Amino acid sequence: MTAPTPTQSPAQAGTVPVAIIGAGVAGSVLALLLARQGIRSLLVERQTEADTHPRGHVWSIRSMEVLRSIDPELAEEMRETSPAPLKLRYITWCTSLAGVDLGRCVPIGNDPAYTAHLLASSPCRPLHLSQNVADPILRRRVLAEPCVRLITGCELQALQQARDGCTLTLRARNGQSFTQQADYTVGADGEHSTVRQLLELATKVTPLQSVAQIHFRANLSKFTSPRPGPLYWVLNPAVVGTLTAHTADDSDWVLTTATLPAVEPAEAMPASRAIALVHAAIGDTRVPVDLVAVRPWTMALRRTETTRHGRVMLIGDAAAGFSAIGGFGLNHGIQDAASLAWRLGLLVNGQLHPDIAETLLASFAVERAESATFHALRTQQLTELSDEVLRAAGLDPSGFGKLTALSHSSLLGLLPRTFVRKLFAGLMAGGLKPLARLAGKDAAGMSARQRVSRAIDKQREVFVTLGTDLGYAVESGFVLREPRPQPAAPHSATEYWPTTSPGSLIPHLWSDEHGVSLSTRDLVRAAPLTLLVGQTEHARWQPALAQLRRDWGIEVACPAIGMGAEAPFQAEPADWAAALEVDEDGVVLVRGDGVVVWRSRRRCTDPGIALRDVFTGLLAPNKRSARALTSNPFQEVQ
Ligand SMILES: Cc1cc2nc3c(=O)[nH]c(=O)nc-3n(C[C@H](O)[C@H](O)[C@H](O)COP(=O)(O)OP(=O)(O)OC[C@H]3O[C@@H](n4cnc5c(N)ncnc54)[C@H](O)[C@@H]3O)c2cc1C
Repeated sequence: MTAPTPTQSPAQAGTVPVAIIGAGVAGSVLALLLARQGIRSLLVERQTEADTHPRGHVWSIRSMEVLRSIDPELAEEMRETSPAPLKLRYITWCTSLAGVDLGRCVPIGNDPAYTAHLLASSPCRPLHLSQNVADPILRRRVLAEPCVRLITGCELQALQQARDGCTLTLRARNGQSFTQQADYTVGADGEHSTVRQLLELATKVTPLQSVAQIHFRANLSKFTSPRPGPLYWVLNPAVVGTLTAHTADDSDWVLTTATLPAVEPAEAMPASRAIALVHAAIGDTRVPVDLVAVRPWTMALRRTETTRHGRVMLIGDAAAGFSAIGGFGLNHGIQDAASLAWRLGLLVNGQLHPDIAETLLASFAVERAESATFHALRTQQLTELSDEVLRAAGLDPSGFGKLTALSHSSLLGLLPRTFVRKLFAGLMAGGLKPLARLAGKDAAGMSARQRVSRAIDKQREVFVTLGTDLGYAVESGFVLREPRPQPAAPHSATEYWPTTSPGSLIPHLWSDEHGVSLSTRDLVRAAPLTLLVGQTEHARWQPALAQLRRDWGIEVACPAIGMGAEAPFQAEPADWAAALEVDEDGVVLVRGDGVVVWRSRRRCTDPGIALRDVFTGLLAPNKRSARALTSNPFQEVQ
């Protein structure tokens, strides 16, 4: 077949500042963050409609802050569409929904102290809403945004780079190809990223688990209403997996259970088998089940060798992938977008000194590689913790991995398929047999349940990730770390202690004057860089900021903060200083993703010299690579 001849499409004539390939969550959020800064983007999406399959469903607090920064009404629309908090009360482990309860975990629950801690930590709360509901909300926003040009049913075919820009070859569904010039290109095109392949970047992969996601509709309220929750772990000899309520629709469910793709690929699973698994999880075959779809998902820790290649950046699943545990997939992609958006804001809208421009892009790759490694390690730790329940129930969590390895044996190809299926069904049944004890009324059943219940008592950390989420700090990148930074890493996965130690997320403080609720996080997310300085120092820093603009081409916002009528952020100087861990005449420099770049806890004698030293200092560390973590969670290179 002859390739269609590329033509210059009149619809995309000229150079677009940013071309984004892939209108999933990562690409859409980036386009909206750029639009907020007045930056035009071309968003290219292969599919004509948003995906209808429920996938990622946990939106972290930090992700919700990013959505709020696009538009508080967007965050509010997502919240209104999501299940009410009362429906998210418990995570339950049971032999089946109708069977025996093995234990519960209350992630937020009724603890007033923890709820107060959560509310004091951020202007946002985490959200539970599956992508099949959230994606259309984002898509509507994108379509309503004049700065974003979305082309659907169109895919990237080729990509060339020069010193001053990129040339993309795009192909529409009708086979017509056209070229597009862009200053920068972003690959947000998912796990099988075309952009990554065209750049010939390798990916490190640690396989975790292949699962089937069985999407079905059923009225399960008679089973769930005594202990409402988003997730039920089911452990019985016929099925081990999770039942997840993905949306506010009470009948919308997903059963996720491990599969052996070499023996029975999820996409080829007969409807009768899928429904039998669902019934085994419910524990009642009389419940009417309407099967919607069965989708495979190969969970793996993945990280591309770099997220920046010249003028091309990778974000979301194209850059790094995680598993369901920890819920980092969706959220990491949103943070990639936030980390890139303020940088592109400076690069596209400013006349930057070339050294700073290079530092911004290089530090993006360093920071996101470091973050991917940190979150992959965290996924492994949480998986290990979660496996404690399986171990307590008498299962060998590595057993499924061994079966998967065996299922890939070339010798099996010599045997009839039906025999292979029966063989593995038998091996699976043998492996799951110990779970029969959990429903037993005898002493063995009771002691098995006690062991499982003790393991469940330790599971809260798997579901409460406030410390990992808000406490995650950038260590090597576009930050000036202090000699003894606080914290070196999140203090704990569940607890968050705000700090302005560089690399950390700026602490949240409300300004509630003039009838507008504004958080410090809203304040800093409104510009690529923001200098936070109290009202007594505000005027003294203006000449230094003007000098910075002249010398480096960097625009830094400096909103007035204090009790004056003209101040957009109202705060008592003492409260402000205490929250920011600086003197009332100290300063804090913050990036548009909320990360503190630098602080001076005491009054700077000469603001001009201070800022010059800061930006000179920022150039040096980015020549180093990301910090070496104690262990490497990635194994192979693809
Ligand atoms: C079945 C399944 C279940 C999942 N469950 C969970 C879960 O429970 N929890 C969790 O945290 N995560 C889950 N995930 C992962 C989560 O969905 C991803 O982390 C998230 O969608 C990544 O978003 P993204 O925008 O980076 O990529 P995607 O959502 O994959 O979006 C990429 C977009 O790029 C488009 N595209 C691809 N190539 C091209 C091209 N050449 N040209 C133009 N467009 C292109 C695609 O059509 C797609 O719309 C699941 C994934 C799957 C597949």
